[in-house]
Amino acid sequence: MSEIVYDTEGILFNIQRYSLHDGPGIRTIPFLKGCPLSCKWCSNPESQKPQPEIIFQKSNCIQCGKCLEACRFGALSSDNPYLVDRQRCTGCGECAKVCPTGALLMKGKRMTVWEVVQELQKDENVYRRSNGGITLSGGEPLSQPEFTRELLRACKEKGWHTAMETTGLAPKEVIESVFPFVDLALTDIKAIDPAVHKDATGVSNQLILENLIKISFITQVSVRIPLIPGINDDLDSIRAIAGFAKLMNNVETIHILPYHNYGENKYALLGRIYPMDGTRFVAEEQVNKFKSEIESMGFTCHIGG
Ligand code: SF4
Ligand code: SF4
Repeated sequence: MSEIVYDTEGILFNIQRYSLHDGPGIRTIPFLKGCPLSCKWCSNPESQKPQPEIIFQKSNCIQCGKCLEACRFGALSSDNPYLVDRQRCTGCGECAKVCPTGALLMKGKRMTVWEVVQELQKDENVYRRSNGGITLSGGEPLSQPEFTRELLRACKEKGWHTAMETTGLAPKEVIESVFPFVDLALTDIKAIDPAVHKDATGVSNQLILENLIKISFITQVSVRIPLIPGINDDLDSIRAIAGFAKLMNNVETIHILPYHNYGENKYALLGRIYPMDGTRFVAEEQVNKFKSEIESMGFTCHIGG
């Protein structure tokens, strides 16, 4: 096998430590930017665009005007309630450099595989003691395929357990080149009905479903159902998803992830409207009903990640 290319660059927007979800033990989670889906309920909207972007926390702004002077692209205006004109903003980051209060921050940073591994190394003892490891998340890690593959290879060389949260949407060659280095794939299945999937996420599910089958024959897969009101919170949709999971290799457990609105405030920081504004939550009784249905189809079912 070829040498690991440690200078491969990726764009990340966070590295989260001490996570107890998203895989066994205690985990460190590099979040990669870029996603081919645009799920209406996305709780990490800052992950969707592939490039670094600016966020504006209005409550931290003291209206000093330094950012207005720093922007060479005319993208900032104190008359704009969101401050930033996203059509004009190039993501150069100059305004964030001069902002004295952190009201403007860049989300997204270029890092090499080597640099990320140095960060991950700091928690190595934690992985070993807890039987934990690394979980790549995003965004969709497969949207930066070379970086993701080389980072996973580097983690495997260190002897770390690797997991990846993935939508499964990528060319088949990418699936085949990346998943041999993933110990556990955490895959959301949102909808089996193609029209429902397209409406909820902006993309077809045909390639996703083909890829999920393929992935399940390469590595261990944990299936998760984000339970979204009006999209899949009905018995037929849940049965269809669990029925699909039967076609996958060796899937024993399905997790139900009930809808929450934790990401709502991030939309305003990005100058966007939250697409699920006012959405009801799924009643606990309903969630338990779906759990029982999944169990009746032969799976173990957990509520939560
Ligand atoms: S990131 Fe650059 S282009 Fe965008 S608002 Fe700030 S200074 Fe202007
Ligand atoms: S530099 Fe920061 S604090 Fe000053 S006006 Fe701009 S956003 Fe507000």
